[in-house]
Amino acid sequence: MNSKLLVVGTIAYDTIQTPYAKVDKIFGGSATHIALASSKFNLDCSIISIVGNDFEKKYLDLLREKGINTSGISISKKGKTFQWSGQYFSDMKTRKTIDTQLNVLEEFEPKVITELSNPDILVLANLHPEIQIDTLNQIRKKPKLIVLDTMNFWIENFRSPLNKIISMVDVISINDEEALMLTGENSITKAVKEIINMGPEFVIVKEGHKGASLFYNEKSFFIPSFPVKEVIDPTGAGDSFIGGFVGYLAEQDQISIESIKKALIYACAMGSFIVEKFGSENLINLPAESIKLRVNAIREMTKFENQ
Ligand code: AMP
Repeated sequence: MNSKLLVVGTIAYDTIQTPYAKVDKIFGGSATHIALASSKFNLDCSIISIVGNDFEKKYLDLLREKGINTSGISISKKGKTFQWSGQYFSDMKTRKTIDTQLNVLEEFEPKVITELSNPDILVLANLHPEIQIDTLNQIRKKPKLIVLDTMNFWIENFRSPLNKIISMVDVISINDEEALMLTGENSITKAVKEIINMGPEFVIVKEGHKGASLFYNEKSFFIPSFPVKEVIDPTGAGDSFIGGFVGYLAEQDQISIESIKKALIYACAMGSFIVEKFGSENLINLPAESIKLRVNAIREMTKFENQ
């Protein structure tokens, strides 16, 4: 039987501007990108989220087509879908959030139906920390792994529930700037130490095009990003990274340090695909063979004699 993955996160309309192009109200959101990336693996993925009365049915159909269970997605009759608008600068990494409209998320009280309440892996994707806590409290049995993501918006505005949810998870995936912002430290080493003291056993620090480091038990491990020819839109890279990470782990019999390290290679591979087109477009018809090739390329990049 396939492992069960449950993702709670946003489903969004994104407006994205880069130095080269602008797209309006495309299908995005943290849950969307994670679910689409993880759907490349053998697992049963379900989403808990909410959309508004303006949400187009074709996007729910698309998720279903990819084998993603959408029964945990509420459709609000009253409000509008969560909207995010961001701008990237010439380095294609620095991001400015222009606007965040929580809309239906403001009133959202997640309901984890019995069928979804016993996942093997739970991903608390980038979302209001109160909703993350509420979802976790409805899980019946401790999942094999609980992975958390967050971002500056929640770090700046919702510190107390954020600290609480950080204390309840196994893994936190965060980018370098957010790790410093979260802890008020000026070095990643100090920031990681502090985050581990907050609760998680594993801290993953993402550094965009450079790669990602895993920190655990006073040890660390690094995987470089795959060097893509051109970054078109970095939105969702962190989410697609998580989709690859949990996707690989869901296929393993056991979650161990070794499988977590390997999962990081899949994470970096999946993160590299999404940036090559706007939104999740590049993930949608991504062949398994392309993933294999990229994973092997990253392996080659990190291999040296007598290894
Ligand atoms: P990433 O680039 O991996 O950080 O993910 C970007 C995605 O996160 C976009 O599709 C947005 O819709 C979504 N997003 C942006 N801001 C937030 C927020 N404050 N909470 C949850 N999701 C967000």
